[in-house]
Amino acid sequence: MSIDLHELIINPGKSLPFSCEVDTERLDFPAIKRFLTPLTGKGEIRNSAGLLTLSAHLSADLLCICDRCAAEFEKHCDIPVELTLATELEDEENPDFYLLIDEKLELEEVLSDCFILEQDSSFLCREDCKGLCFRCGANLNEGSCSCKKEKDPRLAVLEQLLDDKD
Ligand SMILES: [Zn+2]
Ligand SMILES: [Zn+2]
Repeated sequence: MSIDLHELIINPGKSLPFSCEVDTERLDFPAIKRFLTPLTGKGEIRNSAGLLTLSAHLSADLLCICDRCAAEFEKHCDIPVELTLATELEDEENPDFYLLIDEKLELEEVLSDCFILEQDSSFLCREDCKGLCFRCGANLNEGSCSCKKEKDPRLAVLEQLLDDKD
């Protein structure tokens, strides 16, 4: 979706509200099984004394897969988006500006980029997910498995070394 911002650019003080659904086809994350609700972007583009800003909220309900225990869990995401739009590149060092081409904004592209940037590197069903036992594969959130009683031979060696020190 391409939005022509010419009218807004020549009218300081004006704002342009928008609400759109972002195509999730190319948002392919192994940890996101599917989108339970469409990814929706709601907000506005404002011209405050010649400064163009976009502020919005991106939201969706996701069905995710936990990185540690592989359990499915639902997660609501609500991502605030604040961007300054520029019609020309004033400061190449400043990455906070989004450069418009021909006064046009590719809204969906901008919003899906924001979604990609916001995805945590880890998807956990809960912050303290204990994961799976590396030996028997038991889900340790549901209780400890019998492997726990055996000592890791590498740890035993370490303990031995520490004992020798004393
Ligand atoms: Zn988990
Ligand atoms: Zn085990």
